[in-house]
Amino acid sequence: MNYSSRQKNIAQALDEPRLDALLITHLPNVRYLCGFTGSSGVLAFARGEWAFFTDGRYTEQARQQVKSAQIIVDASAPLAQAARWIASRFRQTNRRVQLGVEGEHLTLAMQKRVQAEIGGSKSKARFRLVSTADLVEKFRMRKDHEEISAIRKAVQLASGIFPAVIDAMDSRATENEIAAELEHFARRAGAEKMSFETIVAAGPHSAMPHARPTHKRVGSGFVVLDYGVILGGYCSDMTRTVHAGRMSKNARDLYSAVLAAQLAGISAVRAGVQAGQVDRAAREVLARHKLDQYFTHSLGHGVGLEIHEAPRLAKGQTTVLEKGMVVTIEPGAYIPGSGGVRIEDMVLVTANGCEVLTPTPKELVTC
Ligand code: ZN
Ligand code: ZN
Repeated sequence: MNYSSRQKNIAQALDEPRLDALLITHLPNVRYLCGFTGSSGVLAFARGEWAFFTDGRYTEQARQQVKSAQIIVDASAPLAQAARWIASRFRQTNRRVQLGVEGEHLTLAMQKRVQAEIGGSKSKARFRLVSTADLVEKFRMRKDHEEISAIRKAVQLASGIFPAVIDAMDSRATENEIAAELEHFARRAGAEKMSFETIVAAGPHSAMPHARPTHKRVGSGFVVLDYGVILGGYCSDMTRTVHAGRMSKNARDLYSAVLAAQLAGISAVRAGVQAGQVDRAAREVLARHKLDQYFTHSLGHGVGLEIHEAPRLAKGQTTVLEKGMVVTIEPGAYIPGSGGVRIEDMVLVTANGCEVLTPTPKELVTC
């Protein structure tokens, strides 16, 4: 990964709004900018220099992983170390210093800690904490070649275990048992871990978009399987809905309508369109089938180092899609008390459209 060019982009972005220094505390952003994958680390930028702070548990790991930044290991908390380092960089500066912090991720207590450390330093500067909204996240939206290749591998691994999951599907099995099998297959295939809590939702549960697996048996009806893996630090996310037992015409129609909406969403993706337009393309298809009231979430989201990241594909979102973004297209329709269907692929935005990354077929599978 090209950490120094990523750092350069961020340093340039600090000119507007005028920031003199920056504290990166959100771990996926730390990883994105310097390669550190551990659970305790802060990256700081001041006066043209990057420094990475961690504690003694990560001395060796930081040495191996952190690129393009000075590594500082100390017994005190990385955030306190980083704040003191920034203050020391402006010791002789007799003016106001604007310090960017990740306001969405830095709690009030942590902000107070930063202020206390700076206040205790001998710096002449007066520091002002400024919240940087999505500063790094905006760059993370567009994936480079190495990231796309890591994402492809994660997607392929997850799709690769799907046939085995279907084979393991049995009307007497519980949702929990199927989720356990699925995760077992994923780990055996090399997944670092699941990218979120696996959803196996059968029968009436399938009408709950974010149902947790229970001890209930699959029985008959739709079964929504929504899962993803992490491989090489990058996430995958896919949903397939299968049907157990005899299927009614209504169930078949529901599935076809959601599939048509999903294909319409995919067709609407290309560089230059607004995220909200893609959401609308899928929603319109469901409206034609009088199902739009049952599509109760947004159409999709970006995927990368995090399972949910920018951009959001939702009503009214004006973010313009760009080449290299990786997003999910996942419409659903959930009929309370009866059942639901969701179909989700990951797609890579290209100049003229998109490439569907998820290879798993979408014809309705009955088992
Ligand atoms: Zn999903
Ligand atoms: Zn998703």
